[in-house]
Amino acid sequence: MIRIIAFDADDTLWHNESLFVLSQEKFRNLLLAYQSPDWIDRKLFETEIRNLQHFGYGIKGFTLSMIETAVELSEGRISGREIGMLLDLCKEMLSAPVELLDGVASTIRALAKRHTLILITKGDLFDQESKLARSGLGDCFSHVDVVSEKTSATYQTVISRHGIQPNELLMVGNSMKSDVLPALAAGALAVHIPYHVTWAHEEATAPPESGYTKLEHISSLEQVVQSLEQSKAKSFQIRN
Ligand SMILES: [Mg+2]
Repeated sequence: MIRIIAFDADDTLWHNESLFVLSQEKFRNLLLAYQSPDWIDRKLFETEIRNLQHFGYGIKGFTLSMIETAVELSEGRISGREIGMLLDLCKEMLSAPVELLDGVASTIRALAKRHTLILITKGDLFDQESKLARSGLGDCFSHVDVVSEKTSATYQTVISRHGIQPNELLMVGNSMKSDVLPALAAGALAVHIPYHVTWAHEEATAPPESGYTKLEHISSLEQVVQSLEQSKAKSFQIRN
């Protein structure tokens, strides 16, 4: 039986990457006087990845990386006013309305009636808690884990903290790299629901027969949970 259904938050429950794409477009426009668009995108991505070890995931780290890239690409000529614009962009992102993906509210509310739901997300604690509160779904989740990375060890920790067997956890998320592959490696079940844009850092290809379920849309999730439970019950009967 599935005892806990864990959800990723960004781009699984609510739109997120699209916000970063829009902000990056504004950033690019600000720096066009100094460098070409491709060069700006490449430098920003390199800076973000290099800075993950210092700032972790999330909007604040992204903003510091934008500022660092701007200083570097303009060879120090970026003005205080322009840095101020990047900080304004950061605040705009932090206070942007939380837009749930289609079908999320009804699916989460329905699943919460019969299952324990938890949230496992990367990013900034303050920002993620604020988004969950603003999403109106806070009461559906019994626990929120904001983690610095999603590795198989992260999922093992969640599994042992909740005192369940690995295959009693179902992880649902949009990232093959963070939500699906490490959860499977920890022995959990996984459902992949791709979002229409993926940050390059989250891209990964699943090896063949990795044993996860891929869904186009979250509204089919209830049905998938039911059939996963039925097939588990069947294999339990066969074994016994
Ligand atoms: Mg995500």
